[in-house]
Amino acid sequence: MTKSNRKPFVLANWKINLDPEEINPYLDQVLPAVADEEAVTVGIAAQDLYLGQLVARTKGSQLKIAAENTHWMDRGAFTGETSPRALAKVGVTYVLIGHFERRSFFNETDETVNLKVKAALRNGLLPIVDLDEDLSAYHGQVPEDVVLKQLAAALDGVVGTDLARVTIAYEPTWAIGSGEAASPEQAEEAAALIRQSVQNLYGPDIAANVRILYGGSVTPENGTDFLSQADIDGILVGKAALTPASFLALVAAAKAATAS
Ligand code: PEP
Repeated sequence: MTKSNRKPFVLANWKINLDPEEINPYLDQVLPAVADEEAVTVGIAAQDLYLGQLVARTKGSQLKIAAENTHWMDRGAFTGETSPRALAKVGVTYVLIGHFERRSFFNETDETVNLKVKAALRNGLLPIVDLDEDLSAYHGQVPEDVVLKQLAAALDGVVGTDLARVTIAYEPTWAIGSGEAASPEQAEEAAALIRQSVQNLYGPDIAANVRILYGGSVTPENGTDFLSQADIDGILVGKAALTPASFLALVAAAKAATAS
């Protein structure tokens, strides 16, 4: 299995940006360009309040909708949380789990990340597991044991057959929202370590198939540099995805990367 067998993935992370009245104009621009896109997985992660509208508006298209978080319980007395079962039932496809902002502002731990990954899989959602917690200390050089520890914790109890439904995102904390992206070489080194770690845990076939994204200050100017790396299968994009034109430029870059 070579990189060409892993479909590139471009995921916008809106966070809590965009006002309700901005959603339709955004989709008016993005949807016609990606509705039939087969070569690249294109997704938007949005705050829960917008998910129903986004699912309805993108129904029948190739544009996938992601939640930015989930609770780990399917139902129960967890006021203010969102259930993975409800996300799946309203038609959400992907869910981001363990984003740096969740870990640092909302006290998410490796244990809750792991519970959420299993909850997503149990409910038919496709988890995007963010690896970023301790990595800020390793500005530019990510030791294998740090990646392996965080990855192993997130995937504890996840069986190999479920890895086909998991995407991994490497997002160095110092690069998120800072305007200071990792160098493509640093990002590739981390992605290769992550793939090696998946191989250590699940074997070479599963490692060869798992998609690994880079996130952190990706822009239309540097996107291709990441997308052309051997172990980087896509990009997770915050700020640059808030503007339809720059988001579409990154989708086009991912598409071009499949042709090269
Ligand atoms: C993110 O929050 O996942 C992210 C990558 O943000 P930005 O692109 O703004 O660095």
